[in-house]
Amino acid sequence: MIIDIDKIPKEGLSMSRDFEFLNIDLVEENAVFLAPTHADVVVRRVGEEIWIKGTLTARLRFVCSRCLSPFEFPVDASFDLVYLPEDLDMMKDELQEEDVDSGFYRDNQIDLHEVILEQLNLTFPLKPLCSEDCEGICAVCGQIRRGGRCACVGKEEDPRLRKLKNLLRDKR
Ligand SMILES: [Zn+2]
Ligand SMILES: [Zn+2]
Repeated sequence: MIIDIDKIPKEGLSMSRDFEFLNIDLVEENAVFLAPTHADVVVRRVGEEIWIKGTLTARLRFVCSRCLSPFEFPVDASFDLVYLPEDLDMMKDELQEEDVDSGFYRDNQIDLHEVILEQLNLTFPLKPLCSEDCEGICAVCGQIRRGGRCACVGKEEDPRLRKLKNLLRDKR
C-alpha cells in the first residue's frame, strides 16, 4: 500500500480498508489476529508535509503475561501524524521538542501498510494482562489464582496425602 505523494489530490486521499499483518511483525509475539485490522485514513499533503489522520480497529488474542491465559484484546485507536521528507534532518530535533507524532518519508513515497502497522503496535500494552488485578499462577500448585486463592490455599489437606503420611508414620 504505497502512496505516491505526488499523486495525492488537493482534497486529500480518503480510504477505508482492511490491512493484513503477519504475527512476526507485531511487537507482541504471542498475539493472534481474530479479525483483520481495519483503518479509516485521510492522507493530505500540505507543502512538503504529509498529514495522516485516521482510526484503526482490530481484534487480537493475547496471552496474559501473569497467568498465561489467552484473552481478547480489542483495538480502537485514532492517530494524527505528520510525515516529513527524510532530508529535512534539521527539523528532526525541533519536532522531538514538540510532542508531535511524526515520521519521515523518502523517495516521495509513504508505505501506509507500515504506518498502520506502527500505529497498531503502539496500542499494545508492554505486558499484556487478562485483567489489571490478575493474580497469576500459584508457584506451588501451578493453578491460576483467583481472589488470592488457588487449589492449595485455604483448602484442607488432601485426604490421600494424609493417608500416606499416616502410613509413613506407622512404618517408623
Ligand atoms: Zn491473567
Ligand atoms: Zn496453589
